[in-house]
Amino acid sequence: MDAYHRSTGRTLGIITLVVSAVLGATFLIGRSLVPDPPRHSTATATGADHTEFADQSAPSSTEPGPGSSRTPASAEPTPSNGQPGHDPDIGPMGTRVTTGGNEVALTFDDGPNPDYTPQVLAILREYHVTATFCVVGQNAEAYPWLIQQIVAEGHTLCNHSWDHDVALGSRSPERIQSDLLRTSAAIRAAVPDAPIAWYRQPGGAWTYSVVTVARELGMTPLHWTLDTSDWQMPGATKIAKSVLTGVQPGSIVLLHDAGGNRQGTVNAVYRALPELTDRFDVRALPKRGM
Ligand SMILES: [Zn+2]
Repeated sequence: MDAYHRSTGRTLGIITLVVSAVLGATFLIGRSLVPDPPRHSTATATGADHTEFADQSAPSSTEPGPGSSRTPASAEPTPSNGQPGHDPDIGPMGTRVTTGGNEVALTFDDGPNPDYTPQVLAILREYHVTATFCVVGQNAEAYPWLIQQIVAEGHTLCNHSWDHDVALGSRSPERIQSDLLRTSAAIRAAVPDAPIAWYRQPGGAWTYSVVTVARELGMTPLHWTLDTSDWQMPGATKIAKSVLTGVQPGSIVLLHDAGGNRQGTVNAVYRALPELTDRFDVRALPKRGM
């Protein structure tokens, strides 16, 4: 799709509207025509066996600053953003990068975690907002009661792989499929009928293989608009500022409730939510996907 957009964008600028109108079709066409660009394969696989789970493509990469919702191609090893004819709701390799409306979606990755997830849930409850939890399979297996609480309180679940394998996208389709299925099974061991309509690739290290397998399993690939860099543990003040200055209508905000000391994130969410809920409709992504 990206190369498709690039080439048509150069020659026919006006094609933008047509592409938008038939986005689904063009995605399929583009995906079938464009091979995996090698630069997206394993270049971002840093930290695969690191305990600090961060959905950052590479620790040394230039992080998208507040408000830089459309990451320039030079800033991240992910393609297609900011190109002529690019659908603003669709990001790297056809992943979802906005809510598609004015509502703002907070996403919490790498949990559940017994220290931080209950705090996040309590804060969300206090402000009467729902969020999306991108959970790691082995954590879902370890803390099924947290999965049950997430679901019981109206939040949305997202599959975030079995053990946060940042390099998963470069593995065989069979391996990818078994990893995602194992994760969904762990979630459903806790909540048998839990809808799991979203998949977020660890590290944001998308490949066409992982996007394709996720879609085949009925999950929409979920990227993000705003990376708060909370995984770098800059402290609650900076995380809250990152959220409040960077958020825009439709933003999907990347946060973490596990993978390290996340008290800063917890405190930042508590500080930011009063203003955030004044300015935006903050809510979970649709449970059945989009
Ligand atoms: Zn993660």
